[in-house]
Amino acid sequence: MGKNCFQCGTSEKNAAQLLELEEGKHLCGVCIDNIYAFAHENRDSTEPAAAVQPKGKRFTPSEIVAFLDQYVVGQADAKKTLAIAVSNHYKRLNRPAGADDVEIDKSNVLMLGPTGTGKTLLAQTIARMLDIPFTIADSTSLTQAGYVGDDVETILQRLIQAADDDVEKAERGIVFIDEIDKLAKAGAGASITRDVSGEGVQQALLKIIEGARVSVQLSGNRKNPNAAVQYINTKNILFICAGAFVPLLEEVRKPKQERTAIGFVSAQETVAGEKREVTPELLSKFGMIPELVGRLPVITTLDELDVETLERILTEPKNAVVRQMKALFDMDEAKLTFEEGAIRTIAEQAYKLKTGGRGARAILEKRLQDAQFAVPDTPGCTVTVHADATVTVATPLAMAA
Ligand code: ADP
Repeated sequence: MGKNCFQCGTSEKNAAQLLELEEGKHLCGVCIDNIYAFAHENRDSTEPAAAVQPKGKRFTPSEIVAFLDQYVVGQADAKKTLAIAVSNHYKRLNRPAGADDVEIDKSNVLMLGPTGTGKTLLAQTIARMLDIPFTIADSTSLTQAGYVGDDVETILQRLIQAADDDVEKAERGIVFIDEIDKLAKAGAGASITRDVSGEGVQQALLKIIEGARVSVQLSGNRKNPNAAVQYINTKNILFICAGAFVPLLEEVRKPKQERTAIGFVSAQETVAGEKREVTPELLSKFGMIPELVGRLPVITTLDELDVETLERILTEPKNAVVRQMKALFDMDEAKLTFEEGAIRTIAEQAYKLKTGGRGARAILEKRLQDAQFAVPDTPGCTVTVHADATVTVATPLAMAA
């Protein structure tokens, strides 16, 4: 079995970093960031967990967006859409039983956008704000029951683990399902290599997303392999699904005249030049089963990150990698400085990688690797990232000369 973050479940493949805490226990870079940011936010506060939702308090969509703005750059539409969906979800949960005969449907979300643009980060940040159990599942590791791989039930198992084995708490949690586009039916518009079982997994996911009482093996681990079976009701679990949907988004974003090549032409064409909506019909054509699409009523798209946004990602968020690096060097009594244009150069290099924010972070870390190695042995030095993104380390002696 591959390595996963014990906190959020992100697999080794999807995590930019995976830190081994102890044998078999790993923590991913995003969770490390979150812990770091959390510790800083609350350092001067005697209040426990300032960002945590007090019992019974419901955040308004604008409060949710304001919180997201601290960690996620850009993606205004996705932030707003998610904030409304989550806020409605809690309205729905807090509605007194038998309020009247209007039953509010679940507002499960589908996020479409290129890799590394903040889909996981958005979901993770919301879960942290609300202090509710959260887990990430990677569609590519899921299989139909009976096949080798993870059954969809393992997602719920992980959610229960994230809720410290409190099933009732898990029943109000958030499940983030990544790379859902990889489950597209074979032969549909999507360019995929997966066999027919993609459709089978969609069917299996549908079962848990539409709300069902599902039996899961509780915490079957090495110490306790014969763990009991427990039931969890998925009716109130919020599902956020995400995927790159590359050909679909390319098609949608093209001007109307060119939009015929791979058959994504919907009945709801808009006038030329207007940004077209991602409709359930387009998703079905892509290879998602209509029943599953029907259970993901809230659809939002994320933009590709341009150089300017990448620059902001490096510096602006509360836990921006530049801030983190400065803090790390600070602990070794070293000063990290950036010449004018240095961040821009790194952002430009990251843009070429096409891996979004993930690439920007990785580039800066790589550039600073040698300095991080040398600095603890030479306290008081200055690390400079130059405009061409090269790095030099000046010792106090050299600086005095
Ligand atoms: P994906 O869209 O593939 O789920 P992630 O949310 O996992 O991408 O982003 C990977 C990393 O890149 C994040 O952990 C974060 O450090 C950075 N990142 C990506 N997009 C943004 C953004 N819009 N704002 C801030 N950081 C971002």
